[in-house]
Amino acid sequence: MKTIDIDTLKKIEKIKKLKTCYVTTPIYYASGKVHIGNSYTTIACDCFSRFHRNLGVDTYYLTGMDEHGLKIETAAKNAGITPQAFVDKIAEETKELWANLKISNDGFIRTSDEKHVKLVQECFEKMLKNGDIYLGSYEGNYCMPCEAYFTKTQLGENDTCPDCGRPTQIVKEECYFLNLKKYENKLLDFIKDNPDFIAPESRKNEVVSFIEHGLEDLCVSRTSFKWGIPVLSNPKHVVYVWIDALLNYLSAIDYNSDKDAQYKKYWLNCDKVVHVVGKDILRFHAIYWPIMLMSLNIPINFKLQVHGWIQMKDGKMSKSKGNMVYPMEVVNNYGLDALRYYLVKEMPIGNDGLFSWDRFIDRYNTDLANDLGNLTSRTISMINKYYGGVIKKVEGINDVDKEIEELVEDVISGAIIDYANFSFQSALSKIWSLISRANKYIDETMPWVLAKEKDNDEVINHKLQSVMYHLYEVLRVTSVLINPVLVDASKIMYEELGLIDNEELTDLKNLKFLEDINLKVIEKPVVLFKRLDPAVELKKISEGNK
Ligand SMILES: [Zn+2]
Repeated sequence: MKTIDIDTLKKIEKIKKLKTCYVTTPIYYASGKVHIGNSYTTIACDCFSRFHRNLGVDTYYLTGMDEHGLKIETAAKNAGITPQAFVDKIAEETKELWANLKISNDGFIRTSDEKHVKLVQECFEKMLKNGDIYLGSYEGNYCMPCEAYFTKTQLGENDTCPDCGRPTQIVKEECYFLNLKKYENKLLDFIKDNPDFIAPESRKNEVVSFIEHGLEDLCVSRTSFKWGIPVLSNPKHVVYVWIDALLNYLSAIDYNSDKDAQYKKYWLNCDKVVHVVGKDILRFHAIYWPIMLMSLNIPINFKLQVHGWIQMKDGKMSKSKGNMVYPMEVVNNYGLDALRYYLVKEMPIGNDGLFSWDRFIDRYNTDLANDLGNLTSRTISMINKYYGGVIKKVEGINDVDKEIEELVEDVISGAIIDYANFSFQSALSKIWSLISRANKYIDETMPWVLAKEKDNDEVINHKLQSVMYHLYEVLRVTSVLINPVLVDASKIMYEELGLIDNEELTDLKNLKFLEDINLKVIEKPVVLFKRLDPAVELKKISEGNK
């Protein structure tokens, strides 16, 4: 058998040595229903967490809500409830959604949580004391609905807001500033010394060039609204957005509290800390956050994984265009795995991905129903038909068998490396190349022809057995490799393949081909993914959108 190259072996060894991992999504703004964009990030982080847990890595997965600000204060007022009651409701809805999407998060941090409020206040005072935060005043063009100031160069025609197009107003207010300038060079050095701090590379270059153009100090407080965390030493100010929001990554794991075991484990001594962020909030995570940590004297022990946006055929998803897609609508019609698979497979990390219903149905039919579904049901049916469901190990006896054996070994190591690097698209492509090869293997070996030679011992007890065993092994390896993404299908496959509670044969860390197997598959496989009629589905969808 072909041996795997040294470079790959080294990478795999490094991945298998990981002991602890901390994965975070950004906290989502609690102003409304979570749409498919946030769901993508949350599902991707879930796959990443599940992959690491399957490898035996002690993993902490954090997500949460950003609950302060004028928009929420106003929305609560319009709804006739307190801001707290407003965000409580959104938090419950969001938690319920994540449960429905089988998100395996360990923590759910809310910026209105007591421990978070306390930490933000402490850190703010600490930075005031060391001089990195100072009181000044700010004057600029302000957009009320967007809660943001814009510089003259950012403004649209007639000083309109570049984000929403509404007119802006000149506003002057006293506010606290975070001194970013002071840290410019230190941050550039840090990025240079840590080449894999930001992935992908193109995003890193963007950040470096932004810093090189010079940083302006950042306004970090507001006096124009109340719904926020008051500055302890000057409570007419509330802490504004980024100092509040970014500290969630530390308050959630009890930094600076009496019980900081989590902080020590998942930050200070953690092998792998990954913040997953959309490209729109890259700058805040790549510039403000490390500067805050430098100011607070906390090690910058994280990496940034940046992803693009989900676009619709007619551009960005928006309520006004009526092209919003909500995750539960997909799940209720096509199942959870269909949503998870599509998002993870179709969203290239770094670039924008397209959500289109035609493509969704096409991927569903081709990859899930035809390739994976057929291979599973055909194989299990044949094992039942020819051997009463019993599968036994038979070493490969011809070139085609050997080719399958090599391919499986390649796919196992390649997929593990891809998953560990957040390259899910590539991991799934590799797994699907194996599934397609196995479907072709059935056509090449023609088990139904072999089965006709009932009296030929060599064929029945060797050749045909070998085909069944190799197909079984492909399915077993596939069911383990798809587990982080296709959570339901993988479980069903375990059951059908007689692998439920068989920790040894479903262990990702020690996954290898040609295991010594002697067990029984289920008698009647279920249809994993029912084929869809594209015309019927697309009609349903367009009617639903009216
Ligand atoms: Zn605006």
